[in-house]
Amino acid sequence: GDRLIDGDRLPEDMAETTLRPQTLDDFTGQKKLRENLKVFIDAARGRSEALDHVLLFGPPGLGKTTLAQIVARELGVNFRATSGPVIAKAGDLAALLTNLQPRDVLFIDEIHRLNPAVEEVLYPAMEDFQLDLIIGEGPAARSIRIDLAPFTLVAATTRSGLITTPLRERFGIPLRLQFYEPEELTRIVKRGADLLSFGLTEDGAGEIARRARGTPRVAGRLLRRVRDFAAVAGKKVVDAVLADAALTRLDIDKRGLDAMDRRYMGCIAENYGGGPVGAETLGAALGEQRDVIEEVIEPYLMQQGLIQRTPRGRILSAAGWRYLCLTPPKAIEP
Ligand code: ADP
Repeated sequence: GDRLIDGDRLPEDMAETTLRPQTLDDFTGQKKLRENLKVFIDAARGRSEALDHVLLFGPPGLGKTTLAQIVARELGVNFRATSGPVIAKAGDLAALLTNLQPRDVLFIDEIHRLNPAVEEVLYPAMEDFQLDLIIGEGPAARSIRIDLAPFTLVAATTRSGLITTPLRERFGIPLRLQFYEPEELTRIVKRGADLLSFGLTEDGAGEIARRARGTPRVAGRLLRRVRDFAAVAGKKVVDAVLADAALTRLDIDKRGLDAMDRRYMGCIAENYGGGPVGAETLGAALGEQRDVIEEVIEPYLMQQGLIQRTPRGRILSAAGWRYLCLTPPKAIEP
């Protein structure tokens, strides 16, 4: 998407590599996850073994790729990255796997979009570090077995519900990332301002953090926009007033919701009486892909308690109605 605040990567985010934490100690937030991961990494390093396979769940922009890189660095091994949709054939996966050195980390982003034929090949590779490939076709076809170096698969997904059970069960270390607390994002924003070497007051950092949808990637993006705004305004230091002015101009409200969020909630309220309404229907009404609705817009609105997902569809919560300054229809009031 081209929203300023969605978690998806934009080309300019390549510049965000400057902001990427390099070590587990540098990585802010996700405290429990970080502590657990540290134990597993230390243990694997102590035994000189490959770390168990790691599955990272969570909305875009929360730090899955960053963590995968950190795992490789902390283990002192190579990092190779690819993504589910890019691995078209079993042979592509075989090429990746046979190039790994012992204990290397292979990162597969969007693992839920892996082709089923490729997934089949991945199972024995993960479990026994063996590759079973069929060479040739028809009567001449034969199967060969290749031994692989023990490796660690770190996989990421925004959609835990779309991972098949056999695949999920092959990960010894499943980890779920949470949205960040405002204090954690404040620290991330301050660190970002230091790295980009510009002046930001504590209040200014807090203002950006509160409006970043609990997401470091969004925080980094807002930080850069606010910096542009300050540069044009000829201000050396960004405080809360300046940050607020910039973010308000970008149509991002006090809670970090933007026009798309308001359109989404307004649509449920006004077109569907507050719901329940299905994601497909909402996507069509809003002219958005169902994926964007489910992965980018809804997780934060749910975390904020503004909507709920039910088996019959999405409904606007009491807080959602209040946010829109609308009164729910009598029928659904308790
Ligand atoms: P994902 O893979 O989950 O979409 P990324 O790992 O690419 O997310 O993170 C997006 C950006 O947010 C990174 O480039 C990094 O600058 C920043 N980031 C993510 N997590 C953290 C964190 N815990 N502390 C500081 N910055 C972070």
